[in-house]
Amino acid sequence: MTKLVMNAHVDDEGHEEAGHPERPDRLTAAIAGVRDLHLDDDLSFVAPYMATRAELAQVHDGSYLDELGAFCYEGGGNIDEDTYATYDSWSIAQYAAGAGLAVIEELRHRDDAVGFIAARPPGHHALRDRAMGFCLLNNVAVAAAALTAQGERVAIVDWDVHHGNGTQAIFWNDPNVLYVSTHQWPLYPGSGGAREIGGVDALGRTVNIPLAPGATGDVLRRGFDDIAAPILDAFNPTWVLVSAGFDAHRADAIADLALSSGDFAHLASTVASFAPSSRMALFLEGGYDLAALRDSVAATLATLLGREYQSEASTNGGAGAELIQRAQSERDIALQLAYEVIAAEGDS
Ligand SMILES: [Zn+2]
Repeated sequence: MTKLVMNAHVDDEGHEEAGHPERPDRLTAAIAGVRDLHLDDDLSFVAPYMATRAELAQVHDGSYLDELGAFCYEGGGNIDEDTYATYDSWSIAQYAAGAGLAVIEELRHRDDAVGFIAARPPGHHALRDRAMGFCLLNNVAVAAAALTAQGERVAIVDWDVHHGNGTQAIFWNDPNVLYVSTHQWPLYPGSGGAREIGGVDALGRTVNIPLAPGATGDVLRRGFDDIAAPILDAFNPTWVLVSAGFDAHRADAIADLALSSGDFAHLASTVASFAPSSRMALFLEGGYDLAALRDSVAATLATLLGREYQSEASTNGGAGAELIQRAQSERDIALQLAYEVIAAEGDS
């Protein structure tokens, strides 16, 4: 039976702003979802540590790290209209990034486990040089960069309802990272169109599957199976990291997709089919309805671990099935144009 490796709890109470949806209760709910599975001896904890400057500098500019640290030590405040930091946020964010590294290090020595990084703040909107979208440090990117530095080929699957613009930008031109995102579109942050396919050294290594508001699980599955699966198959990753946001759940008020906890479970099992044994870790990103977050974490992990859990039924019949084919053709055309431009430059 597959086991779960998770980071021990990081005290995140100090990263909070009154009335903000990205709040400590979220982490409590996610951890409650794990507890609901009663894993007993099949759950092991690793101690998180603060990611070092060298580890963070793989994906963030040194000047940004200096500025963010100084901003927090001066008491913090609002970085932009969505994103805040407090005095404690700098150390909490470094622990969140380090939690991913610690879980992955443990998985490297195991052949029977899946990893879950239950930490906040989330990370996938954080750019090399800027915090945004509730995110300070890009936790999944820090982990992926540590793995590629060891020669690994990393697929990042991002099923948060928002496009992970930060992760996409950080690995835009990196052929050793495949970034696959399913997200509502249009929606914050505005990026994530099907024509965004990666930079000149990594053409095709960015895969965006925009979904219409109201899309249900069947639409998501069609997008993933038709567009992402063949690319994941060909990329043949040695590690699969998941930006596991659960804000695409129909109960989540932050966006308008219509997924159930059963849809997340189904997608998780599809994604797991591309990961070698013990080489998959899920990073908590969004998810703002506490009951839906708890249920979705439990349903997702139950499927990956082969446990009984009564998740919500899969959903069908929502909006935007016809957009999947359009996304596929837009992507194909963008790739073709890019190859033609490269060929023409090579001739001149
Ligand atoms: Zn989100």
